[in-house]
Amino acid sequence: MKDVQIKRFIDCYVSTETCNLRCKYCYIAQQRKYNNKLFKFPHSPEFIRRALSVSRLGGVCLFNICAGGETLLSKDVINIVEQLLLEGHYVMVVTNGTLTKRFEEIAKFPKELLDHLFFKFSFHYLELKRLNLLDAYFKNIELMKKSGASFTVEITPDDELISYIDEIKEISMKKLGALPHITIARKDSGNIPVLSEHSLEEYVKIWDTFDSEMIRFKSTIFGVKRKEFCYAGEWSLYLNLVTGSLSQCYGGLFLDNIYKDISKPIKTLAIGCNCKLPHCYNGHVFLSLGDIPELDAPTYDKQRNRVCEDGSKWLTDSMEKCMQCKLKDCNREFSDKEKKQVNFKNKIGKITNASRYVYNNKIKKYKNDGNK
Ligand code: SF4
Repeated sequence: MKDVQIKRFIDCYVSTETCNLRCKYCYIAQQRKYNNKLFKFPHSPEFIRRALSVSRLGGVCLFNICAGGETLLSKDVINIVEQLLLEGHYVMVVTNGTLTKRFEEIAKFPKELLDHLFFKFSFHYLELKRLNLLDAYFKNIELMKKSGASFTVEITPDDELISYIDEIKEISMKKLGALPHITIARKDSGNIPVLSEHSLEEYVKIWDTFDSEMIRFKSTIFGVKRKEFCYAGEWSLYLNLVTGSLSQCYGGLFLDNIYKDISKPIKTLAIGCNCKLPHCYNGHVFLSLGDIPELDAPTYDKQRNRVCEDGSKWLTDSMEKCMQCKLKDCNREFSDKEKKQVNFKNKIGKITNASRYVYNNKIKKYKNDGNK
């Protein structure tokens, strides 16, 4: 039996929509949303820890913390990460890896906390080169590795980078001892297509030379509308960490405000067969952790870890075990009857006070009709 069990995956959004880099493929840049504003969390890190306690969530969870811009620009984020780690959770932080002071501060965390901490270092090669930040970037990664945290290095493969592939490989082998993982860049509009002049097939072929399980798995789910029963909303959740607004998944129903009354259980409802997106563009984590249990997906660690030339790994043993978890191992799957009920509740949609009476009557009628 595995000694690490994960109850839920909680994807947290932090509303910093500014950054010290200006990558043209960035999702904030695509929507022209740079606002140069930092914000204050309205609650203390200790309060946020209590709102997200192991007992309230039903077990140890895996958190992902990602801002609209650079996550670590807001200093408060570090204190929240520390509190979540103290609670016993596993935490992933998405960063551009350039803010050295933040990493120096994190390096002072106790070893047992760093053992549950993971960074996704986005590798924005052209911006790092333009701003003369490549050295600082690799030093920050080295510092986190030496301190005992886990990490991955990931490229958003923009067409402009294609002519730099050899350069990127050379510097990665020299500084990291392994090649970065590769995601799929997307246009954040319409049916969310690949952000490239190439067809998806050509694009994957170009970037497959990095031998990344991430782009391989993502290419199998990219553009595929999910119709299966998905446990997002129950086994995974999408949380605005600043406001406390909790929803099922991207575009899913609002479920609860986790800060409103932290003595109460958190409301959940699986999205079932009602996924709102044209395709599960972050399925490398949601589907790999098993939100659709019958889907054959590689474990998440395969898309994050690398074994370096010197034999060291990007993931610590405990982070590797955490990322090998499937959520069904810690959660009960629904019967067919329960799935029908869940789908029905989703169809009714957001319950406003005005529609609560109608909703209750519909539920009553549904029960009386024998859940046809
Ligand atoms: S299929 Fe993916 S995007 Fe859709 S609800 Fe499930 S996890 Fe979310």
